[in-house]
Amino acid sequence: MTSIQELLLSRIRDVADYPEPGVMFKDITPLLADPAAFTALTDTLAELATATGATKIVGLEARGFILGAPVAVRAGLGFIPVRKAGKLPGATLRQAYDLEYGSAEIEVHAEDLSDGDRVFIVDDVLATGGTAEAAIKLIERAGARVSGVAVLMELGFLQGRARLESALNGAPLEALLQV
Ligand code: AMP
Repeated sequence: MTSIQELLLSRIRDVADYPEPGVMFKDITPLLADPAAFTALTDTLAELATATGATKIVGLEARGFILGAPVAVRAGLGFIPVRKAGKLPGATLRQAYDLEYGSAEIEVHAEDLSDGDRVFIVDDVLATGGTAEAAIKLIERAGARVSGVAVLMELGFLQGRARLESALNGAPLEALLQV
């Protein structure tokens, strides 16, 4: 493990049985409160985004906004929010996806993405991969391509990477930390 990975891991707090019994919640608020760790994370993600030839950064609501916005500024790219349904005021594209119980929908402003865009997706945690898979579909329906996906932490036992494989179509999935 690199010194940056050690720093990042040391600033993530495990909260047992949150938000429901059996879930080990990965709380990134200690990392956000530490400027050295937050800067190291932002710089690392911005380098990864640039290496993929990204033209835009997409952040997934809500913690993907906190991480994705400074990454976009650092990389000199625009930031596009992918939000839970009903929050964006303009004309949107909407994508449904399955949750463990029930389903959810995410949206993006249609005008924010166009044919030539290469979009780099940022989020805090990859769990089942359902959210990221829906985001990839949404971005492709908007006519853009996904240049890569990056998360701070991948929960390997939930097999999200395998779920995303076909949607990624060869684009990289970068996880700075694996558990
Ligand atoms: P999934 O669609 O299952 O990959 O879930 C990903 C989304 O849920 C991400 O936006 C995460 O912020 C959140 N998430 C899922 N599991 C956890 C966890 N154990 N700790 C923190 N966030 C999680």
